[in-house]
Amino acid sequence: MNYLVIFTIGPVQAFIVQARKTRDLYAGSRILSKIIQKSLPKEGVIFPHPQIESMPNRFIAEIKTENIQDFCDQTREKIQQAYQAILEESRKEGKAGVKEGYQRQSENFLEIHYAALPLDKSYEKVYPELERLLGAAKNGRIFSQMEEWGKKCSLCGERNVLFYRDSKISNKKYHYGSRQLKGELLSAFETYHENLIPLKQDGVTLAEREGLCAICFTKRFYPVSKFPSTAEIALMDTLQKLESEPEKKKLESLLSGKWDEQLYFEENLTQEYFQKYNLPVEKLNDLKKALDKLQKKAKEKG
Ligand SMILES: [Zn+2]
Repeated sequence: MNYLVIFTIGPVQAFIVQARKTRDLYAGSRILSKIIQKSLPKEGVIFPHPQIESMPNRFIAEIKTENIQDFCDQTREKIQQAYQAILEESRKEGKAGVKEGYQRQSENFLEIHYAALPLDKSYEKVYPELERLLGAAKNGRIFSQMEEWGKKCSLCGERNVLFYRDSKISNKKYHYGSRQLKGELLSAFETYHENLIPLKQDGVTLAEREGLCAICFTKRFYPVSKFPSTAEIALMDTLQKLESEPEKKKLESLLSGKWDEQLYFEENLTQEYFQKYNLPVEKLNDLKKALDKLQKKAKEKG
């Protein structure tokens, strides 16, 4: 039977929005892109176009199979492997070891959601149902809450600091404080302390007083070969500001899930581009109008 399948990974907010430097922002979006790229099925991908360089955090595919659960399990596995490979790349780059706290933070982080439906009607009819199903799956998720006692990461402010720059000043900042503690608090402090990983750094990648969690460390140290163009940087800054605006959601929804970031660039809203990547040419005018509205909104917000 043929199925329409959607997979999404996240949390996008944490990957892209929580960033101090543009480089963090860019690395976060590269990481998402890389994971999706590595987990795309060999056949049947509807979105994104496999040749697109910067992938969104999702894919939609038409899969012919007798066992759709098997396909979904295998894809989950591929996503996990791609994620593990990225963690490793960053650890190599930062010459960092692994401790228990790192394992816990990184294992609890990646969110994978998916949904599948028999493709017994047209794509345009099945797709909205699939989105609804995915939405329900996301709402039903169980949070694996992590209770961590200790200093919070200077980038996300959510998870504990694990990595910091090894120096007299930093050591003092991250190690001081056990003297007044007793009982449970003292043991919590000791756990926090045991999980810290000092890094020998030149001060470029990690500032003197900065301390990062496993995820923000992964973004900061992820090797990015190509630095983004000025246009891309400007775009990412704008998107960050417009994250929860209805204009943005409206624009993206016009393409029934086939939206990707390249389409924020006006110069890509052409017949040629749409034909090349199999996008509906008849939506071009509506898209241009919606993009125009979004740009006005962006100007309002500065
Ligand atoms: Zn963090």
